[in-house]
Amino acid sequence: MSTPDLSSLIRNIPDFPQPGIQFKDITTLIGNGPAFQQVIGALVERYQNAGIDAVAGVESRGFIFSAPIALHLGVGLVPIRKPGKLPAETYQIEYELEYGTSKLEIHRDALSPGMRVLLIDDLLATGGTIRAATQLVERAGGNVTELAFVIELTFLGGREKLAPYPVFSLIQF
Ligand code: AMP
Repeated sequence: MSTPDLSSLIRNIPDFPQPGIQFKDITTLIGNGPAFQQVIGALVERYQNAGIDAVAGVESRGFIFSAPIALHLGVGLVPIRKPGKLPAETYQIEYELEYGTSKLEIHRDALSPGMRVLLIDDLLATGGTIRAATQLVERAGGNVTELAFVIELTFLGGREKLAPYPVFSLIQF
């Protein structure tokens, strides 16, 4: 069986959700079994001997990738969610978007002090979302080991803004 070309399976939708945005649609990637398997397999291989204690995923497309990775690594999954979704005590952070602000939350008791946390989202654009997520992980007592993405939009320079956190991405545009 031939190896799927992952970048050709990501569908570009111009002007979604607003004019000027080139939206990278991952439904065409995860809808292809061998491609989905290849993505999860590559990330699991990278982290299986990295001493990861927990995987944290960012709502909602981050959950699609973080859950199978946590399962394969044999560690717990910590959801980082939009406000009002997590039922127990949370830490909340507000962060800047291109237009306006947004908020994310983590359960206060989601991590034990010093846990090595792998943070996962589907896509790195400007880096604002994942930076907010790193702050939540640290407030909950975790140490961020690496930030992992399926897709990186390199022309936005998110990686540089996230220094000194190590950043890894599978597919770059
Ligand atoms: P940012 O905070 O700018 O790094 O944006 C990252 C978040 O927004 C991720 O959760 C992505 O799912 C989403 N996102 C930003 N830009 C795009 C894009 N061009 N295509 C798909 N998703 C995007």
